[in-house]
Amino acid sequence: MIKVRKIEVLKGILARERAQNSSLGLVPTMGALHEGHFVLLDRCKAENDFTIATIFVNPLQFNDPRDYDNYPVRLGEDLRELETRGCDLVFYPEREEIYPEDPVVSIYFGDMERVLEGKHRPGHFQGVALVLTKLFHLLQPDRAYFGLKDLQQFLLVRRLVKDLSFSVDIVGVPTVRENNGLAMSSRNLRLTESGRDVAQKLSLGLSEAKAKILRRNTPEQIVRDLKEFYEGIPGLQIEYVELVDGGSLKQLKAYDGVEDLALCVAAYVEGVRLIDNLYLHLDS
Ligand code: AMP
Repeated sequence: MIKVRKIEVLKGILARERAQNSSLGLVPTMGALHEGHFVLLDRCKAENDFTIATIFVNPLQFNDPRDYDNYPVRLGEDLRELETRGCDLVFYPEREEIYPEDPVVSIYFGDMERVLEGKHRPGHFQGVALVLTKLFHLLQPDRAYFGLKDLQQFLLVRRLVKDLSFSVDIVGVPTVRENNGLAMSSRNLRLTESGRDVAQKLSLGLSEAKAKILRRNTPEQIVRDLKEFYEGIPGLQIEYVELVDGGSLKQLKAYDGVEDLALCVAAYVEGVRLIDNLYLHLDS
């Protein structure tokens, strides 16, 4: 596995790969890698000749400086895992390499970022958009892989690519979970054993809600019941529970004409902010 920290070196290597007609796949991450990331990596390896992982804890996408300071960093372990799992190249730049100066350009998604994560983490998606725009420009991947765990991110990245005409296919990969249903996340490292027990209730609530959606309980009822369920769990503080249209991200009032829907939750357990969602295609 090639390890690169400098953009100029990276450009040279990727130019050589492209000259050999290799297809390039990209898995952008913030490190502290887990099985969720590795599923993205495996999919990328299966669909591309050359797999690139990036590890960069992007300061611009943290609206809370404490969250940035506490974000887990396990670089040595991550590099070893990536190598073992057959990643071709890892790019793990220093902050100054990506942001030699504080950027003045900002990418804003309008209504699509005034809801869910965007509403509760002001500026988050502007940071995400900026770093991905840079990575897409620099690496020019054929495909880039994103987890549906960060559903709003996936949907906004697809819009970013469409609106800015990047030649990259954005591939969404279903959420990878622990056996007990807890969505894997680097942030889970900060939870105690009992915190994990509380956190797994997030997915339990979503599964129960899924059955009710399939029975076509009203959106209002679904959200009310789910909030009640979460509020009854000691140690779980919900930030939001929203049922939205999976395309526009607008709050869902009824099921008529809806193709995809997303039931999204953000909550704190032991001071750690966790998100999860149910992304469902409605057949009729
Ligand atoms: P992060 O390092 O948290 O920025 O995540 C990097 C990529 O891995 C993002 O596209 C995430 O959506 C994805 N990812 C993180 N956790 C999971 C998971 N449990 N299942 C699937 N994808 C995930």
